[in-house]
Amino acid sequence: MKKSNPLETRVKSKIREIPDFPKPGINFYDITTLLADGEIFTEIINHFAKRFEDQKIDKIIGIESRGFIFAAAIASKMSIGFIPVRKPGKLPYKVEKVDYDLEYGSDSLEIHQDALEKGSRVVIVDDVLATGGTAKATCELVSKLGANIVEVTFLSELSFLKGRQKIQDYSVYTLISYS
Ligand code: AMP
Repeated sequence: MKKSNPLETRVKSKIREIPDFPKPGINFYDITTLLADGEIFTEIINHFAKRFEDQKIDKIIGIESRGFIFAAAIASKMSIGFIPVRKPGKLPYKVEKVDYDLEYGSDSLEIHQDALEKGSRVVIVDDVLATGGTAKATCELVSKLGANIVEVTFLSELSFLKGRQKIQDYSVYTLISYS
């Protein structure tokens, strides 16, 4: 697709939709086809880095696992630190933990206790905002450490799942949206 098309349109054209993955009824948005295109991947990272450049951001936080890809690249582009929020049992040092509900059952996320300074200004990044449970748990974790969440940022949003409602206390941005 030509570069004269808006970034949002070109990003959508590069995301592959896989019906019924990983289970029946889920339409999976596969970003591997997007990441394989170096030109558009770079453009996306530049787009986000520009959004945050005048906001005095101290750290970029990525949610495991696909959030890491975007968060780490944005952090590097901005020459600031990247902080991982991980599934339980992965981080080796002392952690802060939050449990959250899934459609069936529950899950947890962890962050290193010393990862963020109180009062630091951070942005949280993930690839997809679906039901919002993961993002909400991450916001709770980051707040526990006393950091200020400047924005919760996603590549894409499944707006029909109304995930924004779960994180309505924060500023939320998504590059593209599926309705
Ligand atoms: P949620 O907690 O429901 O907002 O789910 C968010 C997490 O699940 C994100 O980290 C996404 O990577 C992943 N996810 C949820 N639904 C999808 C989907 N339809 N396609 C791709 N990833 C998804």
